[in-house]
Amino acid sequence: MSRILVIEDEAKIARFVELELTHEGYEVEKAYDGRTGAQRALEDDFDLILLDLMLPQLSGMEVLRRVRRQKDVPIIVLTARDAVMDKVSGLDAGADDYVTKPFAIEELLARIRLALKHHEGRVPASASSALVVRGVSLDPDRRQVTVNGEEVILTQREFELLYALMQNENIVMSRDRLAQLALGYDYAGTSNAVDVHVRHLREKIDNHFGISLITTVRGVGYVIRGSR
Ligand code: CA
Repeated sequence: MSRILVIEDEAKIARFVELELTHEGYEVEKAYDGRTGAQRALEDDFDLILLDLMLPQLSGMEVLRRVRRQKDVPIIVLTARDAVMDKVSGLDAGADDYVTKPFAIEELLARIRLALKHHEGRVPASASSALVVRGVSLDPDRRQVTVNGEEVILTQREFELLYALMQNENIVMSRDRLAQLALGYDYAGTSNAVDVHVRHLREKIDNHFGISLITTVRGVGYVIRGSR
């Protein structure tokens, strides 16, 4: 049975959605504010989250960012009709889909089925240890990297380099530091080793998936910038 977390402050809507989802065989938990919603989403494993954007205590967008930073769970955003900016920023921040309010329950159910089905095909990221930045998930326990659910095969050094960059998200890492952390040998005299591995990572991740993950900081080194 799929478990769905409904984060919605309007009690009537939350109750209506709960009834319909329960009727469809889903197990439902409700949260009435952003803070509680984010907390529940992070401390428990849900199969899907329905997230209203206009919430007390913590905005839906902030909930989205916090959850997405740590979890790969499908998130469907509920937005007011015509709030185009909300949709765009929601999808940018990692929402899987959105439904505009007021919505027909059949549409919502169809979106939920679609998101769950889409997600089944993904390799589950272990919530305890996986690092996730902009769709790129790295699981150090399984030594596994996936981009939007698709596995990327890396050499050991490429993996270690990506791991070092993702662990230090938003921190500019010098080539020396990266060599120490990722390559495990004295860096002296091999000044382009990091560059070579970064180039391979870019071919396998940035170019292959059309994203821009690793940023060059001229004269210093590299950084992976996340949403923080
Ligand atoms: Ca609301």
